[in-house]
Amino acid sequence: MPIVTPLTKLLGIRVPVVQGGMQWVGVPQLAAAVSNAGGLGILTALTQPSPEALRNAIRDTRKLTSKPFGVNITLLPSITPPDYAGYARAAVEEGVRIFETAGNNPGPIIKYLKDNKCIVLHKCTTIRHAKSAEKHGVDVLSVDGFECAGHPGEEDIGGLVLLARAVKELSVPFIASGGIADARGIAAALALGAAGVNMGTRFMATVESPIHQNIKDKIVASTERDTTHIFRTLHNTARVFKNKVAMEVVAIERRPGGAKFEDIRDLVSGARGRLVYENGDPDYGIWSAGIAIGLINDIPTCEQLLNTLETETEEIIGGLQGLVVSKSKL
Ligand code: NAD
Repeated sequence: MPIVTPLTKLLGIRVPVVQGGMQWVGVPQLAAAVSNAGGLGILTALTQPSPEALRNAIRDTRKLTSKPFGVNITLLPSITPPDYAGYARAAVEEGVRIFETAGNNPGPIIKYLKDNKCIVLHKCTTIRHAKSAEKHGVDVLSVDGFECAGHPGEEDIGGLVLLARAVKELSVPFIASGGIADARGIAAALALGAAGVNMGTRFMATVESPIHQNIKDKIVASTERDTTHIFRTLHNTARVFKNKVAMEVVAIERRPGGAKFEDIRDLVSGARGRLVYENGDPDYGIWSAGIAIGLINDIPTCEQLLNTLETETEEIIGGLQGLVVSKSKL
């Protein structure tokens, strides 16, 4: 029996799982595999070097799946500020109707997408930002706990409390993001009032993920203690894999007088991080990972993963119902 939620109904998907935007990872072969497996695959716009390249990636994805998929547009400080509006326009003109937005000052992009009748899932790390995104007209909030990979914001609120607050404060459906990689996490998110989940790190260790096998193996071998935060002192905190480069960045940030972005720019650049995924050296640059890395023990296909998640979530929910016993049977 499928799990039916406001998310599955709105997006026309079978499993309430979204593969969130991931720089250098959210490419056509992964997004299509997730969508074909019944979830929502998402292309990461900024992984493509230009809006024109995003058009080609969207066309490539369409050749691989006839199911719905989305495009992620993340607005954060960047070494070379991207043409966000150009990426959004290219995707809309290519017929994409589902978007994941994230980051700072998303209002104008959300307005453009809503004016073009798109469904917008907006990722945010505080209730304050979630309520502001609601005012901009987003359809779904992706409520991102401190456990998450990438940018958790600066308020450090874990998913358990953030989601319990979200269900009381928000009026649009929301999904849980951060710290989820297995069926227990999905069942817990649904119990907390979420309409589904967003997973990132879990999808990095799948057969269709485009990253080097060494990095997939590293993810499997790692525990929840293997991530760290960089950019704390720059108020652009990012949770990344705890490797030599990340520790070097943290050490520079802790120097007396602190660090300017220029002091760490070469160490943290996305261009260098990308090579980790290409050459398979986990210490070569910065790469994002959430603490859900401690829950990942295998490298399945997306289909195997989503089938297992679906079945096990149903079993867990069924098992919980068994805890409720009529008083007459006590
Ligand atoms: P990049 O090479 O421009 O920057 C590398 C890192 O440094 C990023 O985390 C970025 O936020 C940070 N940074 C850049 N300038 C900064 C500044 N002046 N002060 C503080 N921090 C600064 O990044 P990229 O790999 O080319 O990616 C482009 C952008 O897309 C980045 O902002 C990245 O975080 C974002 N992105 C995030 C996700 C996600 O899921 N979290 C997905 C896609 C893209």
